[in-house]
Amino acid sequence: MGQKKLHLKTDLSMRTEPCPQCQNREQFTARSAQCAEDACEIWIECACGFDPTRESGLYRVEDVWGSLDVPNILTALEVWNERITTRRRGNAP
Ligand SMILES: [Zn+2]
Repeated sequence: MGQKKLHLKTDLSMRTEPCPQCQNREQFTARSAQCAEDACEIWIECACGFDPTRESGLYRVEDVWGSLDVPNILTALEVWNERITTRRRGNAP
């Protein structure tokens, strides 16, 4: 539905987990897609296409309009961090 290219500034980038595929922590795309009649999902995808929420949409941020505004993007980035850390702790492929 929507997408927005992100280039994280240094202070935010330092708090962002690097992509497990390409180690990038600056270039991302925020995406949104409709998941129900009155709800949209928002998630973060790496520049290389890696999306830690792909296997389960459960972790994506839900928003009525799916607007890619700053609060939603920051929440989606928190999910990214959370997912990457969990993968690293668990049995990541
Ligand atoms: Zn990547």
